[in-house]
Amino acid sequence: MRIKQIKIGKVRIPLKTPFKTALREVDTAEDIVVKVIADTGEIGWGNAPATVVITGDSHESVVAAINEFIAPQIIGMNIEDLEPICQRINHAMVHNTSAKAAVDIAVHDLFGQYYHMPLYRFFGGKCDCITSDLTISLNDPAVMAADAEKAIQRGYTTLKIKVGNDVDLDLVRAAAIRKVAGPSVRIRLDANQGWKPKEAIRIIRQMEDKGLDIELIEQPVIAHDFDGLKFVTDHVATDIMADEAAFSPQDVLRLLAMHACDFINIKLMKAGGLHNAFQMASIATASGIDCMMGCMLESKVGITAAAALSAGCGCITKNDLDAADLLAADPVKGRRLL
Ligand SMILES: [Mg+2]
Repeated sequence: MRIKQIKIGKVRIPLKTPFKTALREVDTAEDIVVKVIADTGEIGWGNAPATVVITGDSHESVVAAINEFIAPQIIGMNIEDLEPICQRINHAMVHNTSAKAAVDIAVHDLFGQYYHMPLYRFFGGKCDCITSDLTISLNDPAVMAADAEKAIQRGYTTLKIKVGNDVDLDLVRAAAIRKVAGPSVRIRLDANQGWKPKEAIRIIRQMEDKGLDIELIEQPVIAHDFDGLKFVTDHVATDIMADEAAFSPQDVLRLLAMHACDFINIKLMKAGGLHNAFQMASIATASGIDCMMGCMLESKVGITAAAALSAGCGCITKNDLDAADLLAADPVKGRRLL
């Protein structure tokens, strides 16, 4: 089975409610959808939501990267040669991880079809069912507490709370949500790089003193400040997770060699697809560090791929794959666009 052609389209899916973080506010998920078509007629599906404030990729840059640089490198290759295909995708150009992820996901989809093997088994076959948290957008504390209450009523037992735009208000937000959630709901916070290292230590210690029982804090400080991340990790009891700091396997190697964090958040759009994301998980496994599988605001094409990696790898013990539940419509069945 050889790769014959790559086609690119785009879907716009409205969100149930606006998604707000310390970095952005959006009301629609826009997803580039990629079809890698084999000479036998089979189709591998992939996707790339362009999240310019995190990856630097726009829709236009994703389309250009695939058409001009990535596709010409892999057209004609045999799908059995997965490792060489992934190397060519990676080496086609620097950066542009969303474009690489879209093609890599579609290639893995074709690979799984060729061998009649679900991808979660290819990645280790840990389990065939995973559980995700639900994200509560950044708003006034009362609005966030009401959103948290609704999520719990819908059956969610873990909530991911967006904070990071105002240190003192963030403490009020966390306290308001713990009050409505009660002791049994797991609460994790995501500051999206919003705090300075010393600010982060101050607020996290206050949360600890108030007994808010926060499971972990995601990316408290700016992405490039690995020393700042380690400073926070070293000075609080609460677990710290690297997200925007951990794009590549090389980032994970550095972060874990420094003991800069307690967990890694793996996302296909940061890693450049499943091939690199699996390497990140493998490095974490060797370091005795657990990971979360995360996502962007994207269709279920990419969520399905992320879920397969999560269900395969033993070190991925947490999931933040809630995008599918944030969308007001669902144009995807299985891993394919309807
Ligand atoms: Mg995050």
